[in-house]
Amino acid sequence: MLRISCPYCGTRDEVEFHCGGEAHIVRPEPAVNDREWANYLFHRKNTKGIHLERWCHVFGCGQWFHIARDTVTHEVHAVYEMTESPPELLR
Ligand SMILES: [Zn+2]
Repeated sequence: MLRISCPYCGTRDEVEFHCGGEAHIVRPEPAVNDREWANYLFHRKNTKGIHLERWCHVFGCGQWFHIARDTVTHEVHAVYEMTESPPELLR
């Protein structure tokens, strides 16, 4: 089981959280073509290694935040707030 450090509550078990998928996906302008819109809606990186994700502490404070998690080892390398950029080392 993952142990995740909520930036507002501290470290808790994974069962208190919900993963919202890949982080830092930017919604395109309304005038994009169908291919670009489909890419925004459906295509994700599916990274093997360090992956930047959105998580919500649903059974805690209810806040969303980002984590950098290794998809192979499940090690959490960084936790940062929604308004922050990923740590320079992980970009
Ligand atoms: Zn929390």
